[in-house]
Amino acid sequence: MSTQTALSVDLTLSLTYHHGFGALSPFLTALQQGSLVGSRCPACGDVRFPPRRVCLHDGDATEPHQLDSTGQVIRVTVGSVPIPLSEPAQDRIFAEIAVDGTNNRVLARLSGDPTLLKRGARVRLVPPSTTKPPHPIQALIFEPIEGTLT
Ligand SMILES: [Zn+2]
Repeated sequence: MSTQTALSVDLTLSLTYHHGFGALSPFLTALQQGSLVGSRCPACGDVRFPPRRVCLHDGDATEPHQLDSTGQVIRVTVGSVPIPLSEPAQDRIFAEIAVDGTNNRVLARLSGDPTLLKRGARVRLVPPSTTKPPHPIQALIFEPIEGTLT
């Protein structure tokens, strides 16, 4: 009796499906258009970005709130990571950013001159590209505002 290795092959599957964003639609639509929409609690005035449907403090439903598309870098890190649904792993810069007018911070990608991407740097949302990313959240990229490092 002979021993044989079980036959196997690598197969590639492709799947396209329609994915709705529900209550996140105003936030993601604005992001694709180059602006930031957060949430504001009508009861206590707490402003968050990314938006929250319900206030952390009192449980009230929040409202969409237009923000300036600027902020300040709190922390920076560099890592070789793939961006889902798009590019292979490569070195990318990420930062914790305090978006102006909000009470929290967001993790976002940074682009631009790496010498300007330091703690305290003022940043703005990168204008929308003519090529939309595979997922709208991938448009959440900030770039330095030159000459504003504090
Ligand atoms: Zn509240």
